[in-house]
Amino acid sequence: MKKLHIVIATGNQNKVREYKELFEGYPFEITSLKDEGISVDIDENGTSFKENAYIKASTIAKYTSKIVIADDSGLSIHALDNFPGIRSARFMEGSSYEEKNKVIIEKLQPFLDKSAHFTCAIAVCNYPNQQDQIFEGICLGNIVEPISSLHGFGYDPIFQPVGYDETFGMMEDAKKNMISHRGRASKQLLEFIEKTMND
Ligand code: IMP
Repeated sequence: MKKLHIVIATGNQNKVREYKELFEGYPFEITSLKDEGISVDIDENGTSFKENAYIKASTIAKYTSKIVIADDSGLSIHALDNFPGIRSARFMEGSSYEEKNKVIIEKLQPFLDKSAHFTCAIAVCNYPNQQDQIFEGICLGNIVEPISSLHGFGYDPIFQPVGYDETFGMMEDAKKNMISHRGRASKQLLEFIEKTMND
């Protein structure tokens, strides 16, 4: 495999860390927007995770000729009409996740159904000799009272994936990545890269 330079189009250092872990062992050079000196305000005005991921990747692709990947992700709570969904990053903007998670637990109090899912859409632009691509991964789980949370970020402390007795917040990155929405979307991305990188 020849070496590919991939720019992760996010300002979120947690995501960059997770991608570096997900792509470990592959001949990629991974850089962030910060590393590339790219700073653009992007209006994420799409109506789905896929649309927003594509808006981000295609905007950044205008500033570099390197491969750009961008993701859009979020938590959808079924009893609350998939709230906060594509607004996951903007919900209670300015408040800490400790506060946001507390409010979510309160909102869900009257409901027996605590099910939810995380979605991650990954868009790829500037990939040599290929059209732009979008992949999507989903992880099903339940919202639980936050217990201890040593790892992860955002809504991780209150999300317990189906089949596990611990939340994402209690899992090491490597364990979370094996089952997470981002891990699943990345797996599709890696399959695409393995299939096409020598075309
Ligand atoms: P965006 O994809 O940068 O627009 O933001 C997605 C938001 O969804 C994040 O700021 C988090 O609040 C939430 N989110 C997405 N993925 C995860 C995850 O793996 N764990 C916890 N929260 C997440």
